[in-house]
Amino acid sequence: MTGAMTFELPKPAMDDFDTKSLAAEILKSLRYRVGKDATVATPHDWLAASIKVVRDRIIEHWIDSTKEAYDEGAKRVYYLSLEFLMGRLMRDAFSNLGMMEAMRDALASLGVDLDVIAGLEPDAALGNGGLGRLAACFMESMATVDIPAHGYGIRYVNGMFRQELSDGWQVELPETWLDHGNPWEFERRERAFEIGFGGRVESITAKGGRLERHVWTPNEHVLAVPYDTPVVGWRGNRVNTLRLWSGFPVDPILLDRFNAGDHIGALAESNMADALSRVLYPADSHRAGQELRLKQEYFFSSASLQDILQRHLSQYGDLMSLPDKAAIHMNDTHPAIAVPELLRLLMDIQGIDFDTAWDLTKRTFAYTNHTLLPEALESWPVPLMERLLPRHMQIIYAINAQVLLEARASDKFNDDGIRRISLIQEDGERRVRMGNLAFFGSHSVNGVSALHTELMKQTVFADLHKLYPERINNKTNGITPRRWLFQCNPGLTGLMRETIGDGFLDDIGELAGLDAFASDAAFRERFAAVKRDNKVRLANIVGERLGIKVDPSALFDVQIKRIHEYKRQLLNIVEAVALYDQIRSHPEKDWLPRVKFFGGKAAPSYANAKLIIKLANDVARVVNRDPAVRGLLKIVFMPNYNVSLAEVMMPAADLSEQISTAGMEASGTGNMKFALNGAITIGTLDGANVEMKEKVGDDNIVIFGLTAEEVAERRRNGYNPRAVIEASPELAQALSAISSGVFSPDAPDRYRDLIGGLYDHDWFQVAGDFDAYAAAQRQVDEMWRNSPGWTAKAIHNVARMGWFSSDRTIRQYAEEIWGVPV
Ligand SMILES: *Cc1c(COP(=O)(O)O)cnc(C)c1O
Repeated sequence: MTGAMTFELPKPAMDDFDTKSLAAEILKSLRYRVGKDATVATPHDWLAASIKVVRDRIIEHWIDSTKEAYDEGAKRVYYLSLEFLMGRLMRDAFSNLGMMEAMRDALASLGVDLDVIAGLEPDAALGNGGLGRLAACFMESMATVDIPAHGYGIRYVNGMFRQELSDGWQVELPETWLDHGNPWEFERRERAFEIGFGGRVESITAKGGRLERHVWTPNEHVLAVPYDTPVVGWRGNRVNTLRLWSGFPVDPILLDRFNAGDHIGALAESNMADALSRVLYPADSHRAGQELRLKQEYFFSSASLQDILQRHLSQYGDLMSLPDKAAIHMNDTHPAIAVPELLRLLMDIQGIDFDTAWDLTKRTFAYTNHTLLPEALESWPVPLMERLLPRHMQIIYAINAQVLLEARASDKFNDDGIRRISLIQEDGERRVRMGNLAFFGSHSVNGVSALHTELMKQTVFADLHKLYPERINNKTNGITPRRWLFQCNPGLTGLMRETIGDGFLDDIGELAGLDAFASDAAFRERFAAVKRDNKVRLANIVGERLGIKVDPSALFDVQIKRIHEYKRQLLNIVEAVALYDQIRSHPEKDWLPRVKFFGGKAAPSYANAKLIIKLANDVARVVNRDPAVRGLLKIVFMPNYNVSLAEVMMPAADLSEQISTAGMEASGTGNMKFALNGAITIGTLDGANVEMKEKVGDDNIVIFGLTAEEVAERRRNGYNPRAVIEASPELAQALSAISSGVFSPDAPDRYRDLIGGLYDHDWFQVAGDFDAYAAAQRQVDEMWRNSPGWTAKAIHNVARMGWFSSDRTIRQYAEEIWGVPV
C-alpha cells in the first residue's frame, strides 16, 4: 500500500503530533525499551519501538477509562469467548488514535517505511473464522460506543495453524506469532487464579442431618495468569481490555514425586498447564470433542469468573448486586461450563443458597448461539464430566431437577418433550448438552440473523422456546467499519470523504449520502478507478506469491471463508468446470474474462474439506494452462486465508460468493465486508444475506436457489439427486469430468467418492441448486457487460451497508440484553 492511498483524520484525536518530537520518542523507545541503536536496529526492532510509543498514549486512556468506570459504578460487560481473531493491531491503534500519518512521517524521517514494518506484525490468529472475528469486531465496537468491557479468552501460544499448499494439498504448520515477543501485552502475574480438576466432593452435614455444604478437593491444579491487551475505540474514545489467560504450573516441579524417583510424574502438572494454553482447536462448526478442549473451556471460564467476582467484591462488597453491575456474555457454548461454575462459586465459596444463586446466575448470563449444525452442538460424556469436574456435575443435576420441575408444572410437555429439554441426553452414551445448559443459565439467548433466530425457535431450541418463549431474540451480526472500510480501503474512504464529507467516519449511516452519486458518471468513474487500484494491488500479490498472472480488468469473483461442505465451495468449482466446458465448446461467444479466487482453511480432520481444496487446485492447474481458454477463465487458490489477507481481498472483489445451502449459514460476516467494499453478492437466501437483500434492494444483489424451507422439505420428503443431475446436461458433464479423473490424471479415482456422494444423497443440495446458480452467474455476466450499471449497483451496496456496522449490533446488545446505557 502506498502513502498516497492512506488518509488522515479530519482533526487530531488527542494531541498535536509533530514529526520531530514523535521521531525523538521513537528513537528513545528503540534505545531504552528495545535496547537497540538506530544503526543496528532490525525492522522488527522498529516495529516494537513504534508500537511502544503509541502504547504509552493508549495506557493513559486505558487508565482513565478504567477509573471512570470504577468511579461511576458503571455496569461492565464481560465477553467470554474461546476465540478472538484480532489480526494485526498496529494499524487499528494508529488509525483509531488519528496518528497514522504522524507516525508515517516520523518514521520516514528516520528512514523507516511504516508499511514495511506494519507488514511484519504477525496476525493474532486466536480464532478459526466468523465466530472469532465477530468477537474481535465486538471488542472494537464496545470501545467505540463507550461501553466498559472486558474480553476474556485464552492466550494460545499456537493460534490458528498456518496453511501451506503442497502439490495442491493443504499442509498445516504451527503459527508462531509470539516468536518476536508481543509488544502489546502486559503480563499480570499478581492477578493469577488457581484452577482445579478432578478429585472428589465431600458433603458436610451439620448436626440434625441438614446438609451444610459441599467441599470440592481437586487433585490437579494449575495457575491461570492473565495477559492484558488494550483495545482502542474509534478516536481513542475508550480503551477496554482483552484479558487472555495462560496456564502455569502451581509448582514447576513436584519435588516429593521427583525425590521418590518419579521424574516424569514430577512434571505432570507443569505439562498440563502448558498444554492448556498451547493450541487453539482448529475446528470450525465442528465439535472439538477432546478432553483437553473441555479443560480449556473450564480453565478460562473459571479464571474469568474468579476475576469478575473479585473485582465486584472489591468494589461493591457483596454479590447480590452482581446482575446489576455485570453482564457476562457467552460467545457460543464454549464457555457454558461457566454456568455451574458461577453457581459453585456463589454456593460453595460464598455460602449463598441454591435458589438465590440460580436467580443471580440467570440474571447475569446471556448466550449467543452460532450454529444449528448437529455436528457442531457441544455435548460432553457424563463420565468425563464426573471425573474432571465432579462438583459441576452435581450442580448440573440440580439445575436439571429445577428446570424439569418447571417444565412438568407448565403442562406443555409429554415425556418425549421432557426428555428433549433435559440437560442430559439419555439415548446411547449419556452426555451433558451444553446448548441446553447455556440456554437455561441465561436470561437471553440470541441468534445472529433474523432467519437463523427463527430457525433456532423451530429446530434446536423448539422445546426450550416453548418453555421460555421470551428468552430467544435476534441480534444480526455486524462488522467494524474502521477495519473493514477505513483501514483496508483507504482509497474508497478518501473518495467518500471528498464526496459526502467526514460525517460517515463517526456515523456510518451517513454512507447513505452516497446513493445519490450512483447516477453521477464522473463519480462512478472515480469509484471504478479505486476498485481498479485495489484489484491491481491484489493482482500484484498473486503474481508475487503464486506466479500467476491475472488481468485486473477481469471480473474478480471471490469465495474466501472456511472450507465446509455447507458453504459449498464445491458448487462454485463445479460451475467453474461447466464454464470451462462452455468456453471451449463455444469459442465464438463473447465471453468476459473472469478470475475465480478461492481461499480458506479446512479443519485438519475434515477429509472432504481438504479434498475440496485439492480439487480447486487441480482444476486451476488444468484450466489456467489450457490455451483454448485464452485467459478468459483463471482460477486462483490463495493460501493461508486470514484477517490480513481478507483486508486486501475484500476491497478488490467485484463479486462476492455467499452460496451456502439455505438454512445452514447462521449469519456470515464475510458477506458484509465484501458489500461494504463495493462487491455485488451472488448468494442464497441464507443467514444475513436475507437482510442484506432487504437493505441493498433486489436489483443490487443476485439471489438464486432453494429457500431454507424448500431445503428442509426436500430432506423430509426425499429428493432424487441422480434424476436432477441426469436432467442437467451441463452439470452431468462437469461431474463426470471430475469423477473420471480429467483434473486428476495422476489419480483418476481421487474424486470418485466425493462426486458419488452427490448422486447418492447430496445433503447440501449442490445438484439441487446447480442450474439456478449457473443461470445466476450468466445474469452476472450480463450485468458486468454494462459497466456503468455495474458500478452504480456497487455504489448502492456501499451506501446501504451502514446498518451492518457492529456498532449497531453492539448498541442492540447493550440496550436489549445487557441493560447498559449507550
Ligand atoms: C470475516 C472473516 C471470516 C468469516 O467469513 P464468512 O464468509 O462469514 O464465513 C472468516 N475468516 C476471516 C479471516 C474473516 O475475516
